[in-house]
Amino acid sequence: MKLTIKNTFLTENTADSILENTRRQVTEAVYSYTNPKQPKKPEVLHVSQEMAAELGISKKETTSDFFKHIFTGNEIYPNTKPFSMCYGGHQFGNWAGQLGDGRAINLFEVTHQNKNWKVQLKGAGETPYSRNADGLAVLRSSVREYLCSEAMYHLGVPTTRALSLSLSGDTVLRDVLYDGNPAHEKGAIVSRVAPSFLRFGNYEIFAARKDLKNLKSLVNYTITYHFPHLGSPSKKSYINFFKEVAERTLELILHWQRIGFVHGVMNTDNMSILGLTIDFGPYGWLEGFDHSWTPNTTDKEHKRYRYGNQPSIGLWNLYQLANALYPIIEEAAPLESILNQYKIDFEKKSLAMMKSKIGLLVADDHDVELIQNLEENLQLVETDMTIFFRKLSDFTNEKEGFQFIKEAFYSPSEISKEVKNQWNLWFDKYSDRLNKEGISSKKRKALMNAKNPKYILRNYMSQMAIEEAEKGNYTLIEELYQLIKRPYDEQLGQEKWFAKRPEWARNKVGCSMLSCSS
Ligand code: AMP
Ligand code: MG
Repeated sequence: MKLTIKNTFLTENTADSILENTRRQVTEAVYSYTNPKQPKKPEVLHVSQEMAAELGISKKETTSDFFKHIFTGNEIYPNTKPFSMCYGGHQFGNWAGQLGDGRAINLFEVTHQNKNWKVQLKGAGETPYSRNADGLAVLRSSVREYLCSEAMYHLGVPTTRALSLSLSGDTVLRDVLYDGNPAHEKGAIVSRVAPSFLRFGNYEIFAARKDLKNLKSLVNYTITYHFPHLGSPSKKSYINFFKEVAERTLELILHWQRIGFVHGVMNTDNMSILGLTIDFGPYGWLEGFDHSWTPNTTDKEHKRYRYGNQPSIGLWNLYQLANALYPIIEEAAPLESILNQYKIDFEKKSLAMMKSKIGLLVADDHDVELIQNLEENLQLVETDMTIFFRKLSDFTNEKEGFQFIKEAFYSPSEISKEVKNQWNLWFDKYSDRLNKEGISSKKRKALMNAKNPKYILRNYMSQMAIEEAEKGNYTLIEELYQLIKRPYDEQLGQEKWFAKRPEWARNKVGCSMLSCSS
């Protein structure tokens, strides 16, 4: 396995002068050299061959001991120096000070086919940023990150990727429900990959510490390597940089809204500067369409990160980034106008996105109302979002509208006459509205199916794969991995995964209730 290593991040940013791996405040540095902990008995459980190919690693090489040792932190790839990054963040609305890569260790940068990738291990031991935790990850959260990042990629959503899922052979102590009952779990390591893992918090930390030198050099690095089309670093390109981050953030969140993904912990340290989905923790997928749903039990009370709030939180987080960049821009007006534009764009693009889900392309004055009515109807009784939108593409005038979507209701026998009427009223309007489109039902169905996935990684599906994996059986991980590669396609023999959440999963830990304990 020969990788083309190119370490731009290390050479162009300031390293921590202290080399000891001790927990501390790291000042005047963008990163600290940190070696992974050697795992007791590493075992690779699954490899994303698509991702491996992107890095120039062949299928055969992924089965080698060398691959196993490198991507579990047992060995360091020749001429590379692993490191962890310093960042801060606003957690649940409050400035939390230094956070940093507490259990992520960056191995190296690989260049292949004109693309540059950063490779990280998650769960490979403590770093100067581990605060009071152990730097490790358990199998359950690693399976969730591994499968979901690949699922997002295949759904066409900007995301960090995953290369491999491994057991470390060590045990890890976790209190899943934070109720004073910690238990030992299998330790695991995910190797994950992205063009950059920089977060809003990487910039915020320097602004908070008034370290303008590192703030500026990190922004310059980001523009040079990730936004080269913005030209050489200057106040103008800093403003355009913020503009593009705002646009990418909005695009990302609109994708999440489209597929019903709830991130669960949209703290500014979990917001990628490239607009990628990053840090898969207590995330979840909507089953019943519900704006107020959050998978994160830590957020149960205020529901700050609920589905319907994600777009506003994106904006709130961008305000924090704007504040962080202000000292090197020194003009508030252009930043404010970008933030205002986010609100305008959100209205416009969110309508376009919802219209695309129901097969509408041309403009009509009543579309806002039609979509509003649809969202109200979806919340009349528990209605599965994924099944609803997929089934809606079958709609034709030949049958009562309600008949097409029946399967999406969680309690079909309890649907009242009023609910049925509400739906049929909506379908009457929808049917009239479709006449203005001038495309065949067949064409509309194809367009809608490209926006509405048939197969998502429902919370209970991951949980089933986790429970099997904990017993040493990894076949379900492979089955789900194959399934999520073609989320928009009809897949013969896979109908069992196009189903509502089973009742056993309704209130089960790991399915609808997740904590940050990972
Ligand atoms: P998260 O909410 O998972 O994004 O994590 C917030 C912060 O806590 C980040 O700085 C993480 O690196 C850190 N963190 C989370 N879990 C651990 C752990 N097990 N060991 C060390 N640091 C952790
Ligand atoms: Mg995080």
